[in-house]
Amino acid sequence: MKIVAASKILKANDALAAENRQILNQKGVLAVNWMGSPGSGKTTLLEALARYWQGRRKVAVIEGDVAGSIDAERMATLGLPVVQINTDGACHLDANMIAQALEELPLETGELLMVENVGNLVCTAGFDLGEHLRIVILSVPEGDDKLVKYPAIFRSIHALVIAKMDLLPQVAFQRERVQKDLTRLNAQAALFCVSALRGEGIAELAQWIEAHQLGETPNR
Ligand code: MG
Ligand code: ZN
Repeated sequence: MKIVAASKILKANDALAAENRQILNQKGVLAVNWMGSPGSGKTTLLEALARYWQGRRKVAVIEGDVAGSIDAERMATLGLPVVQINTDGACHLDANMIAQALEELPLETGELLMVENVGNLVCTAGFDLGEHLRIVILSVPEGDDKLVKYPAIFRSIHALVIAKMDLLPQVAFQRERVQKDLTRLNAQAALFCVSALRGEGIAELAQWIEAHQLGETPNR
């Protein structure tokens, strides 16, 4: 029996991710890796951001799902170029999948590339895709204890977005607890609070993303 260590797989992934990042940098495309639990509101937030950028910035999307193309269809409805990756059971995207998706996308200079990862707070943390920014979406109904339970992913991100703020009065979610845990795990990470439903906090988040320069490497 042959055993391949996870560290070797991750090393190969990191090399491919570096190639992806180089391709994106050459094209002047800023890429964001969106992570979060299933149902945290990743696609809905991307729709709200896409509407904000409509007429301002070109946006392309890569959707990662175990099966189906529901999210890609939502993005296509907004007129965005989109590639759906079906992982056939794999619970995260990897750099190889992104390399293949990039070949299918007609990327334009200055474009913003949104990559929606598979809904998962565990192994998505370990795979660099070649993105410039890593962002986790945590919705208030999920609870305020996620940073304590899944610290690795929160250590790896550039920003945390607390989503579905419109539901805050209905749930026991302490924003202060999340803020404190984020500072402890990852003091550099930015924190945003949004409601895609009400359009609150979307402009601030969009402008923060746009302000980032190419060539950054994730702080993992
Ligand atoms: Mg989705
Ligand atoms: Zn996985």
